[in-house]
Amino acid sequence: MLQKNRPCFVVVQLLFATLLAPLLLVAGPVEYPPLSVDMEAVQLSRQVYYVKGVPGIPSENEGFISNAGFIVGRDGVVVFDALGTPSLAWRLLQIIRQVTDKPVLKVVVSHYHADHIYGLQVFREAGAEIVAPKGAFEYIDSTAAAERLQERRDSLSPWVNEHTRLIRPDRIIEQDTSIDLGDMVLQLRYLGAAHSDGDLSMLVEPDGVLFFGDLLFEGRLPFVGDADSRRWLSILEDMQSMQVAALVPGHGPVARHPSELIKQTRDYLVYLRKVMGVAVEEMTEFAEAYEAADWSRYQQLPAFQAANRRNAYQVYLSMEQESMGRE
Ligand SMILES: [Zn+2]
Repeated sequence: MLQKNRPCFVVVQLLFATLLAPLLLVAGPVEYPPLSVDMEAVQLSRQVYYVKGVPGIPSENEGFISNAGFIVGRDGVVVFDALGTPSLAWRLLQIIRQVTDKPVLKVVVSHYHADHIYGLQVFREAGAEIVAPKGAFEYIDSTAAAERLQERRDSLSPWVNEHTRLIRPDRIIEQDTSIDLGDMVLQLRYLGAAHSDGDLSMLVEPDGVLFFGDLLFEGRLPFVGDADSRRWLSILEDMQSMQVAALVPGHGPVARHPSELIKQTRDYLVYLRKVMGVAVEEMTEFAEAYEAADWSRYQQLPAFQAANRRNAYQVYLSMEQESMGRE
């Protein structure tokens, strides 16, 4: 009897292996709805990979607008940033599994903004430790974070849904530190509150690949709506002379010659501060100063409509604070 049934059992097994198992692998749990966007790993050095989002506003491209990376060390894998939905993170985890079966030990988060953290729950469930810069808890506990999640459940439905949740980090970084993977060291640099309430970068030694989060944007207007533009600028000034083999921004393609990329973001911040600085100095109302400014250099960039006014307003408010501090 057993013998007789065996061929049928083998066929079912084969059917599962060839048809059903890959489907399960791609689709993931029901709370992570399937995606139609493409995601592929780009290898930057022997042990370092990244996936590149399409620059745009957060509701475009099924939320795949930001970058993430992963490093395969002797002892396991470290992921940098977790993308903008759990479905995207699930896809990233499948891509990692195609490269290595080593455990995902940690996710290092550049900063707590929705498009970099909504995938964290996937890696938490996979057993990874979540490492984030100081400022993460302040973000999670803010009403702005709760409102953002609600907004994304609408604008990124079904991928951000009632199962999507904010994940608290296991470890907070507030000074420079390193992660030893046995055959390589990752240098984490705490950058303070610059682009967000707390930012960090990660340098992979000895490959010379620098993951820089949202302190650099390529191919779209930077988001400055939560920023300390003065601190952000001073970090970019310090970086000008830095030599790296590859620099991965938070959005847009990897840069092999970082100085041009640094210049683009820096020029925009300098321009915002120049225009809004004059307005604050002359006590011009924000709306009037904004309307009078020449934005022609930037208005063709993706995300200009969605971000520029808020960016300018944030800079106006923070420069008001700076000017009061001088008195
Ligand atoms: Zn950001």
